[in-house]
Amino acid sequence: MSILSLHNITKSYGRIQALNGVSFEVPAGSVFGILGPNGSGKTTLLGIVTDVLKADSGSFTLFDGSPDADARKKMGTLLETPNFYHYLSAYDNLRIAASIKGRGEDDIARVLDIAGLTERQHSKFKTFSLGMKQRLAIASALLGDPGVLVLDEPTNGLDPVGIAEVRNLIRKLATSGKTVIMASHLLDEVEKVCDHVAIMLKGKLLMSGPVSLVISREDYVLELSAADLEGLQQKLSTHPELASIASSNGLLHVSF
Ligand code: ADP
Repeated sequence: MSILSLHNITKSYGRIQALNGVSFEVPAGSVFGILGPNGSGKTTLLGIVTDVLKADSGSFTLFDGSPDADARKKMGTLLETPNFYHYLSAYDNLRIAASIKGRGEDDIARVLDIAGLTERQHSKFKTFSLGMKQRLAIASALLGDPGVLVLDEPTNGLDPVGIAEVRNLIRKLATSGKTVIMASHLLDEVEKVCDHVAIMLKGKLLMSGPVSLVISREDYVLELSAADLEGLQQKLSTHPELASIASSNGLLHVSF
């Protein structure tokens, strides 16, 4: 089953074309990375998928059907840092979020457990480390028990311990059967955390597929099939802005 299937999505802000004909599929039960440098259109794409923004053209399906209200209920999102109350406990902050979502005590206990915060649930939010704060934000996004979780740059601004905690939590979610779609500008992060990747550059999809096939063991070297390479060379000839990508012998060096 495909959790999300995008068909030719375009979006402009005035004269800036943020997305230019983007199509790819997100398989179920995987961690799917949307990888690209700042300005490549990742946040715009997540905004469209989560109904914050409307595409100019193109379409997408959620859970193999129309992205209607029922399908959206199965999607948890964390696009911006939530406004938690610093002087309230983790539990009380989640209780407020749960009441807005019509969720109860069982859900709060479940998400605290998933995020590894049960023992600290009665500590004030302001005493939490950066990693714990982000784990609480992910816990809040999980209150509705969504099948898919959408995260925008989930480790941005965290210290190394926080980064490791959040990455571990994302892997744990995938192991428990959830699909995670996450934007990242870090190739290293995608290699460590994601099963599949879509690589974006200047609003276009460069390529997508399993991380093990698309990204080789060597950092920043992407291995492509001859067909991909031919397509890319065509793009390079018509889009000089992609010239930062140098190609040789089927190996591409992409500088983000
Ligand atoms: P990313 O998440 O990869 O950094 P964005 O989706 O934020 O990329 O941005 C894609 C392009 O769209 C960039 O050129 C950015 O400057 C532009 N953009 C994003 N949001 C807006 C906006 N609200 N108004 C005008 N331009 C925007």
